[in-house]
Amino acid sequence: MYDDNNIFAKIIRGEMPAFKVFEDERAVAFMDAMPQSEGHTLVVPKARARNFFDIEPAVLAELIQATQHVARGVQKAFSPGGMRIVQFNEAVAGQTVFHIHFHIIPCYAGAELRTHNRDWADKAVLAEHAERVRQALAK
Ligand code: 5GP
Repeated sequence: MYDDNNIFAKIIRGEMPAFKVFEDERAVAFMDAMPQSEGHTLVVPKARARNFFDIEPAVLAELIQATQHVARGVQKAFSPGGMRIVQFNEAVAGQTVFHIHFHIIPCYAGAELRTHNRDWADKAVLAEHAERVRQALAK
């Protein structure tokens, strides 16, 4: 059911790098490596859970709180006109990494979202975007 070798588990354990914007004892947030828009950020619980159905309700509640906190930082950092908060369950629904996470996807007037999970972003751009979110969260 849950595979400890999924990429987000490796990021949580520090075995793989990520451009982190937030971390506490329960969750970590980092830039999506194939962003659908500028500022696309992922919020991931440290608890082992595959999706919306096997996560403990109390852990899910904490994850939503962390997602709101990080989304406020993304809003301050990028000032999009709106934002999608999205979560997929199983491949048929679009899930590609099987450790539950929320997507924070800023939406900008006149700009279509890029395709999910397709083009890797430039690392320097992700680093700069992560810094903007970290600074916004620190205010
Ligand atoms: P899902 O399709 O499971 O809802 O979302 C997985 C997300 O993880 C996708 O948006 C994809 O771009 C992103 N992603 C895949 N591999 C990596 C990675 O190695 N690092 C980061 N930061 N994001 C990744």
